[in-house]
Amino acid sequence: MQAHDQMYIDGAWRPAVGRDTIAVVNPADEQVIAHVPAGTAEDVDAAVRAARAAFPAWAATPPAERAARLTALADALAARKDVLAETITAELGSPLPLSQMVHAGVPVLVAASYAELAGRHAFEERIGNSTVLLEPVGVVGAITPWNYPLHQIVAKVAPALAAGCTVVLKPAEDTPLTAQLFAEATEAAGLPPGVFNLVTGLGAVAGQALAAHEDVDLVSFTGSTAVGRQIGATAGAAVKRVALELGGKSANVILPGADLAKAVNVGIANVMTNSGQTCSAWTRMLVDAERYDEAVELAANAVTKYVAGERVGPLVNAKQQARVRGYIEKGVEEGARLISGGPDAPLETGFYVSPTVFADVTPDMTIAQEEIFGPVVSILRYEDVDDALRIANGTVYGLAGAVWAADDEEAVAFARRMDTGQVDINGGRFNPLAPFGGYKQSGVGRELGPHGLAEYLQTKSLQF
Ligand code: NAD
Repeated sequence: MQAHDQMYIDGAWRPAVGRDTIAVVNPADEQVIAHVPAGTAEDVDAAVRAARAAFPAWAATPPAERAARLTALADALAARKDVLAETITAELGSPLPLSQMVHAGVPVLVAASYAELAGRHAFEERIGNSTVLLEPVGVVGAITPWNYPLHQIVAKVAPALAAGCTVVLKPAEDTPLTAQLFAEATEAAGLPPGVFNLVTGLGAVAGQALAAHEDVDLVSFTGSTAVGRQIGATAGAAVKRVALELGGKSANVILPGADLAKAVNVGIANVMTNSGQTCSAWTRMLVDAERYDEAVELAANAVTKYVAGERVGPLVNAKQQARVRGYIEKGVEEGARLISGGPDAPLETGFYVSPTVFADVTPDMTIAQEEIFGPVVSILRYEDVDDALRIANGTVYGLAGAVWAADDEEAVAFARRMDTGQVDINGGRFNPLAPFGGYKQSGVGRELGPHGLAEYLQTKSLQF
């Protein structure tokens, strides 16, 4: 794609106030592929003003008309699928088939789901002698990460628009080109000027200015827990709504009666996809003592299918690569047994990390507690089901997880006791309408489906 050297504000591409730019690097070959403007507080202010001015008319637009614009947006994204996939591969590094199927494909489904929901959602309900109106919250500041660059944008912008909110987006600095393509799609979809605005820039500058802007009514953030905590504090001080999708350290719990080979194979695939840069990845595999050695052997075998530079792409940047390699070194230092991979870079060029599996990981080790965000799986041993539950729940996070058992009933009984926002039962499929979000320090609020829409609505009661 041809990168824009401007911001998308009030329905047009406009020059940034300052001259600074951000270099976009292809993590597979380390070449600079584009430059985009590094927005400042002044750019953010212009975008928020445009969003505020557009809000009353968009909020008053009948839901059926908002639904029609969202259908057009889903169509515009579908029409750009190839360039989106190529761009995501260029700036994130994900292998092209993954970019096509997941990175470019899923957002079309999510945008279409909100077109459908906007058209049929009850924005009004009766409770006794009251009519309760569900009204849009106002101007949304959306701050997104790079790991699923288009999905993270659509999972915020589509429900916000469906609710009648207007949006200013600050995407991750590593993947701004995808955000520019998304802005082009909003333009093609015929959204009125100011309803969607894009400011590219650094988190500590443009992101912070957006989170702190007094005319933003709701900040929706996805990213690290450290930054989420700051944004939550800023929003709290301003008595402003906030939604936080943060980190995870999810457990893949394999109960004694489960199909071990399937659970291990799916578990390894789950982590290796997107080079482990998935907040909901099941990075801790929990296996009973009796079948532990068998599971380790199966995992060692399964991981051979994931080769850096082939099925496994690089990490997004040099910093993430160094961070993940540091965690692998820490795992070795703390006594975990390396059964595949290791800290050495597998290729000379590109920010690659070897797909890595550790056995003999104990729950207190750093690699069992902290989010690594790379292609690293830890296999832990449990003694009985209660021990498995203690280990599964024994981190500060609670975003996702999986349970495998002899039957669904047994798996569900275990899942009910897990402190986590989403659990896949015996290999359950991804559902783009199921609420996604965290317990504990994995976040506040939910995305996707009707629960995601509710985040952008506020209630007003009329008594009769
Ligand atoms: P990050 O927190 O550094 O950045 C995320 C976004 O916040 C980027 O757009 C960045 O520019 C912006 N930002 C950074 N500092 C800011 C500040 N002070 N004020 C406002 N905005 C700021 O995270 P990252 O390194 O880009 O992403 C990796 C992390 O995100 C991982 O911890 C991962 O688990 C988490 N994540 C969570 C989810 C989820 O749905 N729960 C999804 C993806 C990623």
